[in-house]
Amino acid sequence: MMHIVPGVLVRHDSPRGAPTVPVVFDSPHSGRFYPEDFGAALPVVALRSAEDAFVDELFAAAPDHGAVLLAALFPRSYIDVNRAPDDIDPRLIEGEWPVALKPGPKSELGIGLIRRAIAPGLFIYDRKLSVVEVEKRIARYWRRYHAALKGALDRAHRAHGAVWHVDCHSMKSVANGMTPDAAGTRRPDIVLGDRDGTSCEPAFTRLVKETLERFGFQVAVNDPYKGAEIVRRSGDPARGRHSLQVEIRRDLFMNEAMHVRNEGFARVQAAMGDLAAAVCDYARTRSAAIE
Ligand SMILES: [Zn+2]
Repeated sequence: MMHIVPGVLVRHDSPRGAPTVPVVFDSPHSGRFYPEDFGAALPVVALRSAEDAFVDELFAAAPDHGAVLLAALFPRSYIDVNRAPDDIDPRLIEGEWPVALKPGPKSELGIGLIRRAIAPGLFIYDRKLSVVEVEKRIARYWRRYHAALKGALDRAHRAHGAVWHVDCHSMKSVANGMTPDAAGTRRPDIVLGDRDGTSCEPAFTRLVKETLERFGFQVAVNDPYKGAEIVRRSGDPARGRHSLQVEIRRDLFMNEAMHVRNEGFARVQAAMGDLAAAVCDYARTRSAAIE
């Protein structure tokens, strides 16, 4: 079953009649429908390198195992739902923002709520953005995406007393100077982020790490990515809400320069389907202990 908010998101539920488990996967950065009012100075072909392309497809099997899969349809270079809504660089805005902004380290790198550049020196805009247009992006995209994610997490939590959430991303194979690690650093296959053990129970991070290692991946935890706004808002392990961020290195499944799937795609997609099955088994066992 599929629920669509046009231009904003698509939610895949487990097929009708299939048993559900309290598991939600979300892919906030794989959207590739560029809104007409973007007003970027760069062509879409240049903007696409900011996408976590194909990540929604890598996890497409999750609903078959009883989980919900939520995916954004808009691009992350338009507005980034993995940032706080006030993490805005004031230098991007025409005039005064109506309340105090809190630009953080991500805005400093040029990758706040509204992204400044695609790569070092490759600026998205040749103009400033009006307060009204940014407020519209927040209301139409950011708030609706977060409402849908929170709704899915709340429903699962209400029905089962707990929920396990995997926030799915991809990362460039090599750091580029707009990333937390030094430019030129080669990344491990997969980086898990639980905000240093605060966004989910340690056993959940361990389960995902050990499952992926069994599949042959090299897995790092909280380095260089600790998890950002989505797992920060969603995770509350003391209340049975467990959120973990997963970053998969792009060259494992795509050609980063050509922006197409590569020969590794099928293997990674099969592995992520098996990971979804393992997470659903884990959640089924853990929530049965609560009920
Ligand atoms: Zn991402």
